[in-house]
Amino acid sequence: MKRRPLIAGNWKMHLDSVKARQLAQDLIPAAAARAGNCDVMIAPSPTLLPVVSEEVKDSVIILGAQNVCWATQGAFTGETSPAMLLELGCRMAIIGHSERRHIFAEDDRLINKRLSGALEHGLIPILCLGETLESRQQDQTFKVLEGQLRSALINISIKNPAKLIIAYEPVWAIGTGQTATTEQAQEVHVFLRQLIGDIFDKTIASGIRILYGGSVKPETMAALMSREDIDGVLVGGAALDAESFSKIINYS
Ligand code: PEP
Repeated sequence: MKRRPLIAGNWKMHLDSVKARQLAQDLIPAAAARAGNCDVMIAPSPTLLPVVSEEVKDSVIILGAQNVCWATQGAFTGETSPAMLLELGCRMAIIGHSERRHIFAEDDRLINKRLSGALEHGLIPILCLGETLESRQQDQTFKVLEGQLRSALINISIKNPAKLIIAYEPVWAIGTGQTATTEQAQEVHVFLRQLIGDIFDKTIASGIRILYGGSVKPETMAALMSREDIDGVLVGGAALDAESFSKIINYS
């Protein structure tokens, strides 16, 4: 099945409203130029969502959130509900990013709840998975990834592969400048796709988009995207620079 690539930018806890507005504006032409064959998503921090939403509302850029709670509303201090994000124009939400898992101790159970809440409310989750350097060195990569994927998808049912996105983000590659080789990434993506087939079915597995994330730069894009099972990228650092992210969007 032909899968439409997704180029996603995670702005993390960076920028202010002036810079965010400018960056969003600067990305619109690149995203428009690729609208025929790929999707572009940006995920600003929650306080920047209103200004960025205003900036991209008439463009092809998809607005995303960096996390999401499962509940519609209630006593959840510090959280943002799916309804709040949808009201601001978000269509996607990153869930289980390694910084959430490692700095904020979000565990598989919590990630499963977030994922389930996002799906229930019509937000497309970008579920992040990834092994640490230690796990890779101990040959535990596939075991770790299988555990993360199976736990995140407990009691989740998917009818349409477009409703869920997976991002393979090896922890050792995030923000380190060390991109996984295209062979390493492809090998994991094939493994994850097979596992998705096992958990759901073959149609979901062949239609679901699996992104790679970890120190993606304009120079590494073409090689990554040439691999059959790499359906796009989730970019941190290079997504904060309009020129770099536009080049990433314009990969050939
Ligand atoms: C990320 O935060 O998801 C990420 C991949 O960051 P970077 O591109 O900076 O490694």
